[in-house]
Amino acid sequence: MFNPPLGKPWLLYVLLGTSLALNLVMVLDRPSSPDGETEAEAVAAAAEATAEPAPVASLAPVAPAAPVALPDGWQITKADVDHSLARTLQNAAGEQGDALAAAYARLFVWELDLRRDLQKGDQVEVIWRPHPESVVEVLAARYHSRKLGTTLEAWKWQAPGEPFAVYWDSTGRGVERRLMGGPIQRYEQITALLKDRPTHKGMDFKAPVGTEVLAPASGTVTRTNWNWTANGNCMELQLDDGHLVKLLHLAENKVEAGSRITKGQVIALSGNTGRSTAPHLHYELHKGDKVVDPLDYHKLEQQQLTGATLEAFKVEQLRLAAMLDGSLALR
Ligand SMILES: [Zn+2]
Repeated sequence: MFNPPLGKPWLLYVLLGTSLALNLVMVLDRPSSPDGETEAEAVAAAAEATAEPAPVASLAPVAPAAPVALPDGWQITKADVDHSLARTLQNAAGEQGDALAAAYARLFVWELDLRRDLQKGDQVEVIWRPHPESVVEVLAARYHSRKLGTTLEAWKWQAPGEPFAVYWDSTGRGVERRLMGGPIQRYEQITALLKDRPTHKGMDFKAPVGTEVLAPASGTVTRTNWNWTANGNCMELQLDDGHLVKLLHLAENKVEAGSRITKGQVIALSGNTGRSTAPHLHYELHKGDKVVDPLDYHKLEQQQLTGATLEAFKVEQLRLAAMLDGSLALR
């Protein structure tokens, strides 16, 4: 029979063992690539952040409720923010909660620092469904922010003639910021920002293989296709303004090392080559030995729907709002 000597040191071993096992799981869970490109991870770190408690509640709390089933597999989840966005949505949406938190956080990253700005009393509302590529798809979302004193909104809608459905607020303004003069015009979503992960030095644009990649400024192509295993087809540009550009995971290079390029020229097609798990363009900027955030280098713009397009959007937006509000009876 096992007799623990001197109190209960075996308990300590059990705890240490458990802690070690958890650490191992966390280490193994990390992306192995320096340019780890999984869809959900980009803002997962932000979603893990802690909410600061605040003393006054301005909204009626949401009663805990099972997700509401809608056609086509869509579900409605509503919850009061508890501790962090990730924990909130884990509690409210079960095993898909982490993926949902990452997709949700990406929508509002432009307005809110989800590491710092969550407050007790904030509320999330989202229409979503699981996606075959293990990424959650969000149809509509609201965030009631006590810090901002307002409700952020994102309604997914595809404008006529546009290649992708993207997110708009209820006034028809594009939720996601766009880089003016950026290296890609036709993309679905920015799936990684520089600030998401310190190990990842670029911005990622989700775009189908074969999308045109443009020179962000005039300059010279300095090299192509170095370190193919990691970068795939790739291109380095020395811009005349002193910045260095790296474009990775290309399907095809359209210019050779040594070529002069002019702003807006098509220089490559985006792809999914090298260490990349989904079609996207990786865009990296350097000045000297410093990494430059493309959000600082480029002017930013938001799209704005107008006229008949805005009217068509409002029809869909009101439909989605009615879906989201239809479950208010749960409160
Ligand atoms: Zn990247």
